[in-house]
Amino acid sequence: MWPARTESETVTCVACGTHTDRELAREYDKYGNRWEREGKEFEHFCRSCHDELCHHARTELEELLVEIDAGECSRLEFLSRYVATVEDRYGPLEER
Ligand SMILES: [Zn+2]
Repeated sequence: MWPARTESETVTCVACGTHTDRELAREYDKYGNRWEREGKEFEHFCRSCHDELCHHARTELEELLVEIDAGECSRLEFLSRYVATVEDRYGPLEER
């Protein structure tokens, strides 16, 4: 008999694909709201990827990525859409 270990105890890091024990992984909500848990499925990061994350607020970023079909087009197309949309919305990308 195999030890009682269910699928749900292992999660996959969304950044590096490592399978990690759920208890060691960090929950990640792509909308940045980890406090609202109702009816939600969290994604997970392994500890080292989580430590490398930028913890600044990502206001409007997720929305913008959906809007420009991130992940549905080539990287080059994505980058050009991203820059165009960001400049359109927030002004020229220059160092201030
Ligand atoms: Zn990872």
